[in-house]
Amino acid sequence: MDLRELLVRALSLYSPSHGEGELARFLLGVVKQHADDAWIDGAGNVVAVRGKGAPVVWLHAHMDTVVGPLEVRDEGEVVKGRGAVDDKGPLVAYLEAFRTAEPRGTLVLALVTAEEDDSAGTEELIRGGPPRPDYVYVGEPTDLHVAYAYRGGGKVELRINTRGGHASSPIYGNPFEELYAAYLKVREVLKPGERYEDFSVMPTVVKCGDAPNKVPVECTAVLDVRIPPGHSCRELEELLRGLPARVRTCTDPAEVSPTNPAARALVRGLLKVGVEPKLSKKYGTADFNLLIALTKNMAAFGPGDPRLAHTEDEAIKVSDVEIAARALKYAVEELGRWGPLKGQ
Ligand SMILES: [Zn+2]
Repeated sequence: MDLRELLVRALSLYSPSHGEGELARFLLGVVKQHADDAWIDGAGNVVAVRGKGAPVVWLHAHMDTVVGPLEVRDEGEVVKGRGAVDDKGPLVAYLEAFRTAEPRGTLVLALVTAEEDDSAGTEELIRGGPPRPDYVYVGEPTDLHVAYAYRGGGKVELRINTRGGHASSPIYGNPFEELYAAYLKVREVLKPGERYEDFSVMPTVVKCGDAPNKVPVECTAVLDVRIPPGHSCRELEELLRGLPARVRTCTDPAEVSPTNPAARALVRGLLKVGVEPKLSKKYGTADFNLLIALTKNMAAFGPGDPRLAHTEDEAIKVSDVEIAARALKYAVEELGRWGPLKGQ
């Protein structure tokens, strides 16, 4: 099955977070022919291994997408469908690199579940499974840039409760106004802004009131907060202390050196395929933030315009998937020549 066919098949198997089963079985069937060992683990991840010994290189990408199926269309140069950008374009590039590379040492392909939700797939991989990595590539749409930093992120819940009251003669105040005041207070302490170094604060779910003639008993809001490198979840909790705010989930920001060996090998791979290497820092949060626990020799990389991720317009250029696969293949082979790093 060639790369285009693989991409179209992967897109036609709708796979929202925790609903990756059918896609996983299909992908396992494909990688089995190219792997020494391949399996689906307890979290539903597809794991495949080629070769043995050091160095161990991981190719990591996620199978799940955000919810909302889209019609799959092969338009020649471009293929459209839910997940074309995030993350099936990158995933197919990683699979192609896995089956075409001639690695020294061990090459691991990890196609994970639930990246868009609770990262259950990557959490499982971090606990154990395939050989531990010396180097990791994380498949995400970076427009073929070498990404070396991701912001952290947390979900902050604001909650205001009152005793209700008649809308015409309230005696307990209005929780909506208190909720809004709390939101402004959060902005005051986090000082959100547009720059990479800034926090960002975005209200995503706001709920208030249940009847037109009654003062709301409870108002809640979820704020999607992004945390820039140099700050942490702990700091976020401390900054919010004293406010009616609770940090529900949080992932720390992650940054590796842009000249770490995985990034350098990829830069050489890109030069080989005629792409001018560009570095970038990402505004979002990804499995990169978790995988940093295993190694700092890491880069995120993949085809696809990240601005189209999660939109109704997800589309990927087939030629970019091919280029990404070739650049990665060279990078993996280069790392094989360099061997494992001492003292990591
Ligand atoms: Zn993604």
